[in-house]
Parts: sequence; structure tokens; C-alpha cells
Amino acid sequence: MLDQAAPLQAKMLTHGALTDGSARMEVLNPATAAVIGDAPRCSKEELDAVMDAARAAYPAWRDAPEAVRREAVSGLAPRIEAHLGEIAAILTAEQGKPLAMAKGEILSLLNFLKAQAKIELPVVVNEDHDKRVSKTWRVPLGVVAAISPWNFPVMLAWWKIAPALLAGNVVVLKPAPQTPLAALKVAELVADLFPAGVLQVISGGDELGPWVTAHPQVDKISFTGSTATGRRVMDSAAPSLKRLTLELGGNDPAIVFDDVNVKKTAAKLFWAAFSNSGQICIAAKRVYVQRGIYDAFRDALAEVAAQVKVGDGAEEGTLVGPIQNRTQFDRVNELLADSRAAGHQFAFEGEAPQGPGYFIPVTILDNPPEDSRIVREEQFGPVLPLLVFDDEDEVIARANDTEYGLGATIWTDDLDKAERVSRRIEAGTVWINEAIYLSPDAAFGGRKQSGLGAEHGEDAIMAVTEPQTVVMRRG
Ligand code: NAD
Repeated sequence: MLDQAAPLQAKMLTHGALTDGSARMEVLNPATAAVIGDAPRCSKEELDAVMDAARAAYPAWRDAPEAVRREAVSGLAPRIEAHLGEIAAILTAEQGKPLAMAKGEILSLLNFLKAQAKIELPVVVNEDHDKRVSKTWRVPLGVVAAISPWNFPVMLAWWKIAPALLAGNVVVLKPAPQTPLAALKVAELVADLFPAGVLQVISGGDELGPWVTAHPQVDKISFTGSTATGRRVMDSAAPSLKRLTLELGGNDPAIVFDDVNVKKTAAKLFWAAFSNSGQICIAAKRVYVQRGIYDAFRDALAEVAAQVKVGDGAEEGTLVGPIQNRTQFDRVNELLADSRAAGHQFAFEGEAPQGPGYFIPVTILDNPPEDSRIVREEQFGPVLPLLVFDDEDEVIARANDTEYGLGATIWTDDLDKAERVSRRIEAGTVWINEAIYLSPDAAFGGRKQSGLGAEHGEDAIMAVTEPQTVVMRRG
């Protein structure tokens, strides 16, 4: 747990130095709405200096042997691991997630970093004969701006940073204004692994994101956040054709066929939907249950929900924390109010602490209409609609009837059926009889308006490089 008597005063990592910035902004704990520390509020002039430092650092880092870059990136995991407890406590305090889950976020990142450090930059030999050699290799893009959201403030940022640095880019990370502390702490811990300007981490208010994405020094934007913001980011990339990776929102369907073990599946599906208080891009956000088991499944899910403690993530026994910020808290409450006003049935309404924290009880809706807001919109909170379906074609059509295409889950004992259905689901990842599992080796990205491009595995390197073909005449 964090020592609340000592507020956190975070610093930015700019041009190899830890700096306070010319202005500061407060950071709140969403479980108490109390100030837990403050972070720099980067000004436009400070951002210009950061971008100049990045540009200046780029040629030497690009030209450094791959082994030198790999060694620096390989140094990340041990450094972060040595401070796991401290980073997790900051994460819980600023993000709200239970401490065990904050540790889980860091452990998952360590796994990812270790795998990333081993990736080789591919070289394709197109021709090799007595007249000519032609090769295509991957070259870095230059200055990569990484912009991350508040739901996994450390892990998602480093999914972007590690492959970009390995491939020879320089990186400027801007975490979300609500959750800058853990990201800045990690930057402080790893600062000396890289030459000045190669990795910079800055924090600021709502104004900083648009300044970064419009900045003329930026060659590539790697953005994770909502679809609405993703559209604005795409707009600001257009004038100089900045390269883009967009990891955006989702409204993932879960499809539960009537041959499953109801109790076991309900227990797994509960956490597919409610982990991190539902604030996961790939959380199950609408659950289609086949008619024959609908009632039993709804009751089993409610039984699981009744066992779950909602509360401060720093308290022993808490499994579901608060919503991370006031804006999102108001949005989820607005969706709940809409359902109440429309007379939707509730299968379960749990309890949550009263008081200044942004707590919303675990709530399950009982078959609201398909066109209701709670089904159509990404709720990003602990509120889940259950819906009845009859047959395969019908449920596939309903699952795909959305602008999103991030993930989906299918629950059945018939694995042939599961594979057949998965090919027809418009989603970047389909999980069968499990959820949320991400491998550092498997491409992860959204279809439709859930994103552009992919991260992880070789795709992570592709996203931060471009092909360069070199053709050499022999003789
Ligand atoms: P958000 O879009 O509000 O903010 C994300 C980041 O963008 C923040 O750092 C923010 O400061 C910055 N930003 C805001 N406006 C900007 C602008 N005009 N230009 C540039 N940057 C700007 O998202 P959020 O509310 O922090 O995160 C929740 C959303 O993120 C959900 O929709 C969720 O599904 C999505 N998400 C997607 C993935 C994925 O991998 N696909 C992962 C996690 C979260």
C-alpha cells in the first residue's frame, strides 16, 4: 500500500534528465477522490524542446548496432521487476485496480518485454544471383509518439515503446492525464538504459495529446484510447501523413451455446466482463446466451456476482475497484439511468461503498432490447447486458452488428462449431472457452472502427518500421 503521508511528486524524463516542469497538475485516487500526488503539466515550449531532443537523438540510435539496442531493451524487465511492489502500489492508488491486479499488470508486461527483446528485424532476400542481389529490410520511422489510456497505464504504454526502441526509433510517451504517476515512475527507473533523448516521458493536461499528435517532429503516432479520440488523432496525422497505429474501443460480444457447463462458464465469463471494473478494451461487453440455458446461466452469473466485493483496491479482499475517473463514472451512471428510464429488467444489482470514491455496483441486465444504449455502446464499467438468442446465424448477425471489431468470445463444448463461428465473427481476436488471454507473440489489433494496424509479435516491429529495398548490381 502507498504511504499516503508522502504525496507522490513525479518528474518527467526529458533529454536524459528528470524534470519538474514549469507547471504541475494534481492526481487523484479514484477510490477516495483525494489528491495522492502531482505530476508535471508540460507546456507547449517544453514539448517543443522534447521533440527537438528526440530528433537530435534519432540518427545515432538508428545507426547503433542492433545488439546495442537489444541490450538496452533487455535491461527493462529486470529493472521494472526489482520495483514491482512499488509500481503496483502507485498503480492501485491512481488507477483504482486491486493490488493483486496491479501486480498482474506489471507481471504481464515483464513477460511481454522479455519476448519483445528477442524479436529479430526481418530481412527478405528477393533475388541473389550472379547479376544482382535484392534485399528488403525494415528501417525505423524516426520519432514515435506513444499515447496511452488510463485503464492499463503501464502495460499499454510499453507495448508501444519497447518494439519502437528496439527497431531504432526514438520515443516520446504521453500517458493519460488521470494516470501519469506509474508511467513516470517506470521512466525514472529505466532512464539510464538509453542515451539522452531516445526515450522521453512527459505528462500534461487534456491539451497535451493534440499538441503531440499535431507536432511536426512526430513521424509516427501509436495511440491507444477511445474510437472517438482515434478519429481526431487520424485527422491530425493527415497533414504530414504521419504513420498510425490505432488501438481503439470495443463492444465485444460473448456467445454462450447451450452445451456448456453453466456454472463453470458463468464463473469464467464473470471475470471476462468485470475484471478491472469492466474497464478493459477486450472485456465481454454484451453476452448472448442460447435460450435453453438462459435462465440458469443468468442465475449462475448473479450467484458469482453476489460473492464479489467492490471497494478500494488497496483493501484486502477487494475484487472490483472504482471507476477510474469522474467523467467515466458519470457516463456509466448515465447508461444505467437510461436503462432504468426505459424499464429494463435487472438480473443483479450489487453493493458498493458510498462516499466520494467513483464506485459503481456490479450490475447485470436481463435481456434488454438489442437497440438499447447499454447494448449498442461501449459501457467500460461494471454493468453487463445478458441477451437471449436462438440460433447460430442469428447470433453471428447480432454479434457483428456494430461499428466495433476488437474481440469476441465463444463458449461451447463443440470445438468445430466454435471454429466455424469464429471465422464469421468480425473481430481482431476471438477466444474460445477463455477470455482476455494475450500472448506477446500473437498479433493483437482491431477490425472496423476498433483500430488500425496491430501490436505484438512481428506485427509490433512492422508497426514501427517501413520496408526499404536495396537492389545491388553485380559484376
Ligand atoms: P481517450 O481516447 O479519452 O484517451 C486516450 C489518450 O488519448 C489519453 O492519453 C488522452 O489524454 C489522449 N487524448 C485525448 N484527446 C486527444 C486528442 N484529441 N489528441 C491526442 N490525444 C488525445 O481514452 P480513455 O478514456 O483514456 O480510454 C478508454 C478507451 O480506450 C476505451 O474506449 C477502450 O476500449 C480503449 N482501449 C483500447 C485498447 C486497445 O488495445 N484496443 C486498450 C485499452 C483501451
